[in-house]
Amino acid sequence: GAVTGLPDATVRVAATDAAGAPVDLRARWVFDSRPPDRLPAARTRLLQHFRGWFVRTERPVFEPDTVDLMDFRTAQPARGLSFGYVLPTGRHTALVEYTEFGPEPLTTEAYDRALADYAGRVLRTGATEVLSAEQGVIPMTDAVFDRRAGSCDRVFRIGVAGGATRASTGYTFAAVQRQSEAVARAVRAGRPPVPPA
Ligand SMILES: Cc1cc2nc3c(=O)[nH]c(=O)nc-3n(C[C@H](O)[C@H](O)[C@H](O)COP(=O)(O)OP(=O)(O)OC[C@H]3O[C@@H](n4cnc5c(N)ncnc54)[C@H](O)[C@@H]3O)c2cc1C
Repeated sequence: GAVTGLPDATVRVAATDAAGAPVDLRARWVFDSRPPDRLPAARTRLLQHFRGWFVRTERPVFEPDTVDLMDFRTAQPARGLSFGYVLPTGRHTALVEYTEFGPEPLTTEAYDRALADYAGRVLRTGATEVLSAEQGVIPMTDAVFDRRAGSCDRVFRIGVAGGATRASTGYTFAAVQRQSEAVARAVRAGRPPVPPA
């Protein structure tokens, strides 16, 4: 007898395009960086959660060539800790951020109160206009993230979803770049591109 066909060594990715129309993709390897729905079980599971204001002040209160990365003069929460940071873009403009390491994110109103306190009491910004805001949550955990998605050996998790976040700081960009380089090298060499731990 003669074998005339084998199943494709590909996986199907079901998606929708920007207009909502279904798109069917086939790929040899799939890398999934969608944020995880649930964090794996762990000994420590804190969140780095924050809200920042892009502000414009009446007086020239910022030093454009000085960033302040961890300013602990913020009011401290009952659990966890907080700090502010200031990234100036001019004498009158900056991103002013309030960050907590703790068990739960705050409400937007609570972040805004903390930001008003930090800007007014600590930074003494005076008359301040909030131009826009950003908000985020980064998991900080010693959990071990699965780099394979389910039982499929062609689907891998990368980025935050693949455990690339440094648990002590929340920084992720550098590890994502190392992960991506290792994956690209493996694909090029024809090896299964399992993302490195
Ligand atoms: C405000 C903020 C500032 C940060 N600053 C830093 C920093 O300075 N340095 C640093 O190292 N880290 C920083 N981080 C941490 C940051 O989370 C990571 O560095 C980086 O964004 C992680 O990249 P990622 O690709 O893993 O995840 P993300 O950037 O979260 O990318 C996930 C992507 O998946 C998309 N997505 C979700 N669901 C679907 C779906 N069903 N189909 C298709 N796409 C989907 C989302 O739209 C998103 O684009 C910051 C995070 C925040 C929120």
